Amino acid sequence: MENLNDIKAELQELADKLERYDRAYHQLDAPLVSDGEYDALRRRAEQLEAQYPDLIPENSLSKRVGFTVAQGFQKINHSVPMLSLGDIFSDEEVVDFMDRIHKFLGLPPDAPIDIVAEPKIDGLGYSAVYQDGIFVHGATRGDGTVGEDITENLKTIQGFVQNLKSDNLFNLPPKLLDIRGEVYMKKADFLALNQAQKEKGEKIFANPRNAAAGSLRQLNPTITAQRNLSFFSYALGAYDGEPFKTHWDFLQSLKAWGFPVNPLIRICHNAKEMLAFFRNIGQIRSELPYDIDGVVYKVNDFNLQKRLGFIARSPRWAIAHKFPAEQAFTKLNNIRIQVGRTGALTPVADLEPVNVGGVLVQHATLHNADEIERKDIRPGDTVVIQRAGDVIPQVVRVVLEKRGEDCPPFEFPKLCPVCGAKAVREGDDAVTFCTGGLTCPAQAQERLKHFVSKDAFDISGLGIKIIEDFYEKKWIQNPVDIFYLKQNHELQILTCEGWGQKSAQNLFDAIERAKNISLARFIYALGIPEIGEATAKLLAEHFMSWQRFKDACQDEYAIEILTQIDGIGKTMAEYMRDFFAEEHNQALLQQLLQILNVKNYKPKNTNQPFKGMSFVFTGTLSMPRDEAKARVQELGGKVSGSVSSKTAYVVAGEDPGSKYTKAEKLQIPILNEENFKKLLDEAIK
Ligand code: NAD
Repeated sequence: MENLNDIKAELQELADKLERYDRAYHQLDAPLVSDGEYDALRRRAEQLEAQYPDLIPENSLSKRVGFTVAQGFQKINHSVPMLSLGDIFSDEEVVDFMDRIHKFLGLPPDAPIDIVAEPKIDGLGYSAVYQDGIFVHGATRGDGTVGEDITENLKTIQGFVQNLKSDNLFNLPPKLLDIRGEVYMKKADFLALNQAQKEKGEKIFANPRNAAAGSLRQLNPTITAQRNLSFFSYALGAYDGEPFKTHWDFLQSLKAWGFPVNPLIRICHNAKEMLAFFRNIGQIRSELPYDIDGVVYKVNDFNLQKRLGFIARSPRWAIAHKFPAEQAFTKLNNIRIQVGRTGALTPVADLEPVNVGGVLVQHATLHNADEIERKDIRPGDTVVIQRAGDVIPQVVRVVLEKRGEDCPPFEFPKLCPVCGAKAVREGDDAVTFCTGGLTCPAQAQERLKHFVSKDAFDISGLGIKIIEDFYEKKWIQNPVDIFYLKQNHELQILTCEGWGQKSAQNLFDAIERAKNISLARFIYALGIPEIGEATAKLLAEHFMSWQRFKDACQDEYAIEILTQIDGIGKTMAEYMRDFFAEEHNQALLQQLLQILNVKNYKPKNTNQPFKGMSFVFTGTLSMPRDEAKARVQELGGKVSGSVSSKTAYVVAGEDPGSKYTKAEKLQIPILNEENFKKLLDEAIK
């Protein structure tokens, strides 16, 4: 049997990683890993979660969508959430998707269910709300519930619908209409934008999706106005008007109101037709003027959609069938080693620039020494590169036939390329670490960057370049120096190029504000290996105060105490204990705590009416069992197979079994189907 704590720790690690990647992708428009790598991690998490539902971490991807609103934007609440889509990659999964739908609805496998198949536009989702036919505000998806206000930005897009069209004076527009769709950048506009950016010496975008997101999510809409953006509309959020029977009917109304609807959308009647559509779209993909990353299948009948409902973050009635990643051949010129905050040495491939699906790729991640050895990657090799809408593509394999005579194997460095200290690998760890510790300037700078980053102290004026500059000038060598910057270096900063009275004051104000910090952010800022943002939150929730957290890490039984927490594995616990055991860390913490106010953790209320309640079903209900189960789970409840004194309700249909008698004996409340439905209705009021 597998060790549950290890699984818990792996799930937590996966959740932390995915959370970090999501922030970079959704909030900063700057992905850290390839979509292929992201999707592989996501799949691993989904498999483990399906096997061990009780171990799902709080910050699991399955419990959230996208990412929270970035700073500076006004917030807009979505009255109907903007969700994500589950994704599939193979033909069998399309068949499974249809089987699941039939089963959920209690229909025979060959019962006809119409599916609308649409190209999946690779852009940025938006919502636009219209009252009495007039555009009032628009937002990004954000975390699905709260999005960023992009009203003015949307208005700058050519052809954006500000007033619904009507060909009939008596045909009043709906009172409320929330249209969802995708803002994207055409391939040609993307190439022209990058050319112009290059000439101006400004940021080059990695792909059309990033360019679209980066252009739309601008605090200053005049920048959006200078970019050529386009959009398609494809979904309905909140709505108060003549009801639609089907998604297809809704799309026809969209067209009549003046919205651009993708012309390739078709109705399919079964999995075979869906697969034919997918292949067809795949064939014409490269000729389309815009990027697509797959096909979306949606149940056409709105009534069925309503019954099918949602699984956590995505609808049960729709799914994204994604294309495999795009590949290209190129020459690998050099393997470069980067040194991270924890001293990890990460190899990066410098490539002969190559166009992969419309994007110029120059670097690829090589992960670690084992990966290089396993794939036998050598400088000078011709390699296959893969990307899927990402910035850091991967090397899939070496083309051995093209290897030249003079191409010796790569030797992973034995010394840190920055400070020259020994580089070591411990046990079966895949990562090589620089042992320079505090003396390694690369590590010190990376640690400082982490300390001031958004999820840690969030000192906006201290960007990467400024940290590097101030480090070299020896003004900031460790975190404590940040808080003495004004006292010790104000005059020097004011004489530096690029700094004025106002920018310096803004920086000092940001540093002053950062002195009040939450416990979770503080723990995260320490940069203890393996302790990501979500784990830091978990620790803050558990220990509530800095003193209790510190005492636990310094306790003789620290490992036992820490691993008792759900989601903390042995390795994490060891890192925490070792961090507090280091004398220089103790000294640094002592100095920091004299300056800072680390706030205790305050628990929040959750809005899950069935949380902690267990339901048992018996007998035949008219609502299919899967549907009933899903309703309870959506509201935070659990469904159990047997009645015990802890059961909150037994729901009894026709011909109930022995569970009914057991419930009577234990005096557990028994609900018939009608009362069960009432309970559900009241819970969502
Ligand atoms: P998603 O982008 O795969 O699918 C959901 C989105 O598809 C919707 O929100 C909508 O905006 C869009 N869409 C486009 N055409 C549509 C249509 N016709 N109908 C309905 N929706 C349509 O899901 P997601 O949760 O937004 O993002 C997950 C994906 O994004 C991952 O699978 C990965 O490919 C990528 N991602 C990558 C990284 C990374 O670091 N590389 C990080 C996060 C996400």
